[in-house]
Amino acid sequence: MIQDTVNELILYAKFHLKMQEADTLYFKNILLGELGLSSPSFSPVDKERIASYDVPDPLIDDVKKYLVNERKFDEVEADLFTTKLMGLLSPNPSVVINDFNELEKESPRKALDFLYDLSIKNNYIRKTDIDRNIVWDTDFSDKNLEISVNLSKPEKSNADIAKLVAKVDSKEEKYPKCLLCLENLGFYGNKKQPARENIRIIPVRLGGEDWFLQYSPYGYYHMHCICFSKEHYNMVIDYNTFIRLIKFVDRFPCFFIGSNADLPIVGGSILNHEHFQGGEHLLPVMKAKIEKEYKINKYVNTRLYKLDWYNTTLMIEGKDRGEVANLATDILEKWRTYKDPVNEVYGVDFEGKHNTITPSIRKVNDTYYLYLILRNNKCTPQYPDGIFHAHKQYHMIKKEGIGIIEAMGLFILPGRLVRQSSEIKEVLERKLNDAEIIKTYPDLEDFIQMIHDLSHKYDKDNINRDIRNYINDVCRNILINTAVFKDTIVGKLGLDNFIRSVNLWLVKTI
Ligand SMILES: [Zn+2]
Repeated sequence: MIQDTVNELILYAKFHLKMQEADTLYFKNILLGELGLSSPSFSPVDKERIASYDVPDPLIDDVKKYLVNERKFDEVEADLFTTKLMGLLSPNPSVVINDFNELEKESPRKALDFLYDLSIKNNYIRKTDIDRNIVWDTDFSDKNLEISVNLSKPEKSNADIAKLVAKVDSKEEKYPKCLLCLENLGFYGNKKQPARENIRIIPVRLGGEDWFLQYSPYGYYHMHCICFSKEHYNMVIDYNTFIRLIKFVDRFPCFFIGSNADLPIVGGSILNHEHFQGGEHLLPVMKAKIEKEYKINKYVNTRLYKLDWYNTTLMIEGKDRGEVANLATDILEKWRTYKDPVNEVYGVDFEGKHNTITPSIRKVNDTYYLYLILRNNKCTPQYPDGIFHAHKQYHMIKKEGIGIIEAMGLFILPGRLVRQSSEIKEVLERKLNDAEIIKTYPDLEDFIQMIHDLSHKYDKDNINRDIRNYINDVCRNILINTAVFKDTIVGKLGLDNFIRSVNLWLVKTI
């Protein structure tokens, strides 16, 4: 009975969402009113069961069933409504901020854990959905990647993202302006915008600006957080970015933090609101070996390396935050307009800016490790989606922009691959020809080459492994596509020439 669920929700809030005893009757009556119920249930509640819940899903599912069956809500309306209820049952935003700040005095870690746990317990972080994602590590001999087939979010194409960026100047007033705006706090939501009554956000001051910290509702890795500016403005990578990244890890050294690049194709899905992404997880590039060091004289306490990674990644190591930020800025500013026709790099041309950087940082003890991935988004008739974007033959696996998370070695792949993989297995087993494949499964057309390649060594018992290995290889090739300086003599020379052109008083390359 739904009245029993109301009692269970109140008890859940007491156990898991810090609801005070004195508030329980008040909120019980509010919930009854919200659900259109005239009186409560007086049946006892199974306390142990409610105390043992890691997530509120069983209770939310009960409420949704009631709303759909008895009140004729559709799925989206039921989701909006239950989010509102979870928001009501959660501590107010100011209480969460105070608790966070108090815990942070003990340790930043405790404060971050508190917000993370609360965000799962009030269903802002959709843990049950996240747990449905299929994740694995590649088994290459070195430089392994992490793969996650995302079963909780739809795929966005670069064209969709470009539309979002173009929208910034339109007169259309949308509220909140985007998914990252502070005004989402408590927002009821609708069929296009998610409900956010249960989000809780912590103010942080970064480089003289007001920013806010929250977790991602569909995190791609452990404790995936988002830090965003108070004002809604387009992303920009510059000296201030490096300073803000440094300030963030000074305050929260147990997290890495990074920014998507500030141009379409090589940036993330939201370019119109300045934000960073971080978390506890060590992304694969952070485990990459050093390939070479550039000995420089301009910054005596700071070192510059090239990492042995698929795309062009530099790493700055140092304890002096001024030097670290200045060295990164020297490289960025030179890179913005850098031209190297042999490597097809044109930093700027009649179409506008093409060169940018994907930066990220972590702090170990008192040493900063700042990673700079050199990026370029130029398109040509041969590569209409980007010279340094996933090439067309790999789009069946991933066609979205390669943002910070993929560039650093964690691939988020579309959920459709689960269905397509089982269709590929069937096609191989039935030995269908190309025409039959396209007739039976029209969206396998782009997989024809993959099916041919797999058919040469078809082994029914190992087909799952072979499909997975094929996907792994495609992801590796996509990252190699994004390298502005390839792992070739011409590419390596190109990078050395670029570093030499930055005024760093280069002594030698080791
Ligand atoms: Zn915004």
